[in-house]
Amino acid sequence: MGEVRRILLVDDDEDEFVATRDLFREIGSSYELSWAKTYDEGHAQLAKCACDAYVFDYNLGSRTGVELLREAKAMGCRAPILILTGAGDRAVDLEAMEAGAADFLDKGQLNAALLERSLRYAIERHKAEQKLADTNQQVRALQAAEERLHAAVRVRDEFLSIAAHELKTPLTPLMLLLGQLRRLLRGHEVLPLVEIARRQTWRLADLVDSLLDVTTLNEGAFTLHRERFDLGELARQVAERFRSQAEASRCQLLVEAGANVFGNWDRFRLEQVVANLLSNAFKYGRDKPVEVRLSTTAEGARLSVRDNGIGIAKESVKRIFGRFERASSSRHYGGLGLGLYVANEIVEAHGGRILVQSEPGEGSVFTVVLPREEPVHASAPVHH
Ligand code: ADP
Repeated sequence: MGEVRRILLVDDDEDEFVATRDLFREIGSSYELSWAKTYDEGHAQLAKCACDAYVFDYNLGSRTGVELLREAKAMGCRAPILILTGAGDRAVDLEAMEAGAADFLDKGQLNAALLERSLRYAIERHKAEQKLADTNQQVRALQAAEERLHAAVRVRDEFLSIAAHELKTPLTPLMLLLGQLRRLLRGHEVLPLVEIARRQTWRLADLVDSLLDVTTLNEGAFTLHRERFDLGELARQVAERFRSQAEASRCQLLVEAGANVFGNWDRFRLEQVVANLLSNAFKYGRDKPVEVRLSTTAEGARLSVRDNGIGIAKESVKRIFGRFERASSSRHYGGLGLGLYVANEIVEAHGGRILVQSEPGEGSVFTVVLPREEPVHASAPVHH
């Protein structure tokens, strides 16, 4: 059988103790009864709180079992307490119930089966309550942990936003200055050095811009400025800007975007999308050709950037669009893990999507599918 339940009886009448003890003998060995002869002795035992259940007689000299019960509760005793009385007294029954008694038993009608059943139910109920309390406590602990995590993320985002703005402040005049220097030093032998400084500064500015973007996207302060333009022309312009980067990565850059593909989009934001995809293609596909293609489908414009580089493992494909998510080692490839996040947010704000086809070691194709007009239920507000 199961474990032995320890019960403490507090009763100042020895005859009644004997009668109750006999009932317990009849019940069998699953209960172990101990006896406290007085209110004070019962009180002392309660402090140990070592029993599975308590049975108090109502009459305990000058005081009552209900008073002892109240004290027990005040002491933090959670185990169930049963009250016994000599006569079926409804007032005592209610008083006991209100004070939190697990049951109220009339000695006149008490027998072993009744006592055992009452104790068993009380103990099981108590166990269930405790389990529930434990679960509730765990839930509260999890909720608190979740709140702490949210707070930590908020602090991080605030820091990022402040850091990005602060980093950008000295960069803007620095870039202007380098531009002026370049003009002043035209033809001078140090010009190539200024060029390098300028390129690195632009690169730094791009990184800071991604950080700024990610904070605006996060604050939901991102709005599209739509205008009508040709995506093919935009793709060619961005590709042109990337010529020197293509050469530095020894990638042959092929642009097949001859046809006019007009639509109502945010020019600046789509330039960013193409730029992010291209710079990834050069970064992860060094020494191999990169192709930009444009076509139209029933869904809208389709712009794809294909490289023949390292490719992406299947399990990482979904993840790489998340904030700060990266699938390649930062030792080999630098980056903040923001380019695809920003690109995806921009494309989704246009009502479009980005598809990825990739094979590790074979290369990747990122395809942007864009509706040519603003969807009727646009998710992002338009400001002209
Ligand atoms: P970053 O390049 O700064 O890490 P991105 O958000 O642009 O951040 O890309 C996220 C991750 O997706 C990269 O870290 C890389 O693992 C993977 N990835 C993106 N583009 C390519 C690509 N063309 N080829 C292989 N992996 C890529």
